[in-house]
Amino acid sequence: MIALLALCIAAFAGTLKVHVLDVGQGDAILIEAPNNKTVLIDAGTVKANVTAELKRRGIETLNLVVSTHPHADHIGGMAEVLKGFDIGRYMDNGMTHTTLTYARTMAVVERKGIGYIAAVKDRNLQLGDEIVMTIIHPRTTLLRGTRSDLNSNSVVIRLQHKEICFLFTGDAEAPTERDMLNRGVESCDVLKVAHHGSEHSSTSAFLRAVKPRFAAISAGTRNRYGHPDPEALERLHQAGIEVHRTDKEGTITFVSDGKTVKVSTEKTVEAVTGHPIAAVTRHPQHSIKPAPTQDLIVNINTADALALDTLPGIGPSRAATILAHRKKNGPFNSCEALTIIYGIGPKTVANLRPRCTVTTNDESTP
Ligand SMILES: [Zn+2]
Repeated sequence: MIALLALCIAAFAGTLKVHVLDVGQGDAILIEAPNNKTVLIDAGTVKANVTAELKRRGIETLNLVVSTHPHADHIGGMAEVLKGFDIGRYMDNGMTHTTLTYARTMAVVERKGIGYIAAVKDRNLQLGDEIVMTIIHPRTTLLRGTRSDLNSNSVVIRLQHKEICFLFTGDAEAPTERDMLNRGVESCDVLKVAHHGSEHSSTSAFLRAVKPRFAAISAGTRNRYGHPDPEALERLHQAGIEVHRTDKEGTITFVSDGKTVKVSTEKTVEAVTGHPIAAVTRHPQHSIKPAPTQDLIVNINTADALALDTLPGIGPSRAATILAHRKKNGPFNSCEALTIIYGIGPKTVANLRPRCTVTTNDESTP
């Protein structure tokens, strides 16, 4: 009996848990290593209140807190987290941002005297006997001139627990994936899908190289960006990866004993009531299709920035560009004409097409 108990404790002591927290549209990943070592990668939006969620889980100390990049869906809750817990070290990619959210975060780092580590490729951090975090990206020379340099220089982390590997990719996009592929990408069991499953990430070449068994997508239910993108999902499914999504299943937890990894989710896909997180469940994720949006039709020739912003794949900056273009050049002849806007390709148009019109109600009313 005593021997069995000792064995159980030994087994528990060797268990690594990775929780992809359900924070709506954003990222927050809690890593619980044996010996009570904890790491938080990103802190979601302000609204997600990651601090409350971590307290609910009994967390008091975070040995390492990582900001993959300074967008508000990753560091919105960061200042509160840094204030609310004993923090060992704070790590980011070294890129500054002009937002108040970023300024507040760095003010707390400074005020609390939290040790700062710059995330640079090949830096290793030991989390336990056989648990090592390795920074894969960015390199000392940052990627520049990409669609989003902040996304492209996201901190990418490989977490190795004996034979089991996790890859956390922040909001890395295709240029980052190419950069990593050029340097050589090793296979890894669990992939935190980059950029909430956006169309700009998860290229087939990258997925072929990583060859994950499981993928976790962190995205908000019916978010305004249309994440995860249907084609990105298709690429994941084509690669034969078991895909889990926080927008459908709530918090996703992976448990590794160093040899095998198991996944459990807060909710089953079909479930009305919650599923206990302790129960290990596997779901036929391949059948998941993105929910059709029920939102209103947007006339791109009359809509204001807020309305344009609700179209999948648009967002505030492209909405502003559309308005500026309309003011200068007059109305669009078709929704397809949106491809004239920088950053809007045929795929984005195809995604937003069901909700787009150029015809006013007056014209269509007899
Ligand atoms: Zn993001």
